[in-house]
Amino acid sequence: MNPLQFQNYHQIVVLTGAGVSAASGLPTFRGPSGGLAQELLPVSDGRRVRELLPQMWQVYGRLRAGSIVAHPNAAHFALAKWQQVWQDKAQITLVTQNVDGLHTRAESEGVIEIHGSLLRSRCLNPTCPNATPFEDLAVPDEVPLCSICGDALRPDITLFNEPLPLEGLHHVKRALRFCDLFLAIGTSGTVAPSSEFVRSAFDAGARTIFINLTPLEIASPYFGETILGRAEELLPTLLGVS
Ligand SMILES: [Zn+2]
Repeated sequence: MNPLQFQNYHQIVVLTGAGVSAASGLPTFRGPSGGLAQELLPVSDGRRVRELLPQMWQVYGRLRAGSIVAHPNAAHFALAKWQQVWQDKAQITLVTQNVDGLHTRAESEGVIEIHGSLLRSRCLNPTCPNATPFEDLAVPDEVPLCSICGDALRPDITLFNEPLPLEGLHHVKRALRFCDLFLAIGTSGTVAPSSEFVRSAFDAGARTIFINLTPLEIASPYFGETILGRAEELLPTLLGVS
């Protein structure tokens, strides 16, 4: 396998998913074990946040504890190093579906976390300053309360039936409009918004590459190339930073 040649690209969008964090020992939502989806679905309904908070914190609190002790792996470090090498020559947008904060801990800059972060909380009171997400590494036994207004806190995770964070989404959509290289790494690629991202990149005329352990579940006409393997093994070479 040869490194990709990046010198011809100016607007690069990279989307990462659970496959990038698998080597850090974090459970994947869909993966072979499959248990996480069953646990998350009932507590992740964005229309019933207040009612579900106790159960929500039980599950997301445990996942937060897991993320805090996890370490970035070779895939995270390769992406961060590659960004440093190319950031002066190309506009690079790194957008992740992961909520573990590991890209940032590997020192990637400007990571757009479209599904939020386990390492942040926010206050349910929309007029409270803490309604803006803040870093929170506490693993609570019960629903934690806001230190400013006393209302309940929630994890800063995009739940089902909730819109994706607008600012991040706008940034990605702007980048996709002029995108000339799109990489989807460690994500199934068939679920919105990643399925929409590749389509936008394709429409912009970008080279589109699907990099994942397993092939696409449903063939996509928008991915031009597929590279199969583990992200932590492929990326150092593909990105030319091994
Ligand atoms: Zn508050």
